[in-house]
Amino acid sequence: MNLAVLPGDDIGPEIVEATLRVLEKADHLFGLGLSFQMLEVGMAAHRRTGTTLPDETFEQAKRADGIILGPAGVTAYPPAADGGLNVPGTIRKRLDLYANIRPARSRTYLPRAVAGLDCLFVRENTEGFYADRSMFHGSGEFMPTADCALSVRRITTQASRRVAKLAFAYAGRRRRAVTMVGKRHVLQTTDGLFMREAESEAALYPHVVLNEMDVDAVAAELYTHPEGFDVILTTNMFGDILSNEALALSGGLGLACSLNLGDRHAAANAGHGSAPDIAGKGIANPIGMILSSAMLLDWLGDQHSRPEYCRAAGSIEAAADVALQSAEHRTPDLGGRGGTRSLSDAICRALGEPSTDLDVAGGS
Ligand code: ATP
Repeated sequence: MNLAVLPGDDIGPEIVEATLRVLEKADHLFGLGLSFQMLEVGMAAHRRTGTTLPDETFEQAKRADGIILGPAGVTAYPPAADGGLNVPGTIRKRLDLYANIRPARSRTYLPRAVAGLDCLFVRENTEGFYADRSMFHGSGEFMPTADCALSVRRITTQASRRVAKLAFAYAGRRRRAVTMVGKRHVLQTTDGLFMREAESEAALYPHVVLNEMDVDAVAAELYTHPEGFDVILTTNMFGDILSNEALALSGGLGLACSLNLGDRHAAANAGHGSAPDIAGKGIANPIGMILSSAMLLDWLGDQHSRPEYCRAAGSIEAAADVALQSAEHRTPDLGGRGGTRSLSDAICRALGEPSTDLDVAGGS
């Protein structure tokens, strides 16, 4: 299976390199037959080619079986007219990666983790309250008069329905509960449409329980009663905000992993930014990127009926748990004394040492 690897900016190359070491180890242990195609994007590509996302790079990524995409330092890019294309945004749009899948699981051995959190956000990824995604032409933010600014939120039946379908499919493999989140009594038309589509989809999944909660209530309940959530289905910006909260509650933003998913393509993309403040210091937490890549392996295993991919994904997650338990290996953002390299080395060692927690020999 060919994976396109786009390291990104700032800490991107460091955490992607750490991720590739773990994937190479998993490839060797599980006989995955992975090959990696390194493709330059971001400011490195801009310096060489005048654009942050060369067309040829995009075409090669499109042809790959899966994409590993390091975080992009988009805020430092030049304007789009000067070649500063938003790399993850453009890939998401062109490949129609319409759902952002973000798990948050408490690791109670971490200093700041709340107990009982184990949820999965299924966040709509193509529309909503984002100025670049709501209009056919022009920006979703505009000023009709000098003292008045407006912002448009686009919600469509098609986008709502397909993301709901994914949420129910994921819930079927978890604890069979979906909480749809918005503020329907205030945003009656848009959240009303989003939730009606989820309710229609729910009829096809009678074994999954669907309930509804307001976004403000969820913000509080994630902290006070995190055990109440399994799959959380929500619109783009609510999902962005709540999933960051959940990640912080699970132990820290450096753990943020995610998969951007469409019907034919998937991109592993850590849920945090490019952290320019710590780039080059060797202390970036690679866990988010590593676990995002494990999610990609799991998806590939499902798509291509390759159970060894799913086993490799489960073992990488278990190995990360083993490695994270030691403050010697953990990076400073998680209160540890380790670095990017020592943490990924510890994961590779844990992967290579079958234990009761790991499934390197094969199993469920
Ligand atoms: P974006 O808008 O691109 O998502 P952001 O503004 O949310 O980015 P980040 O780049 O995610 O900002 O960084 C926020 C803070 O979290 C910074 O202090 C950064 O150093 C820290 N941080 C983010 N990712 C990591 C990581 N992998 N390891 C350690 N610290 C991180």
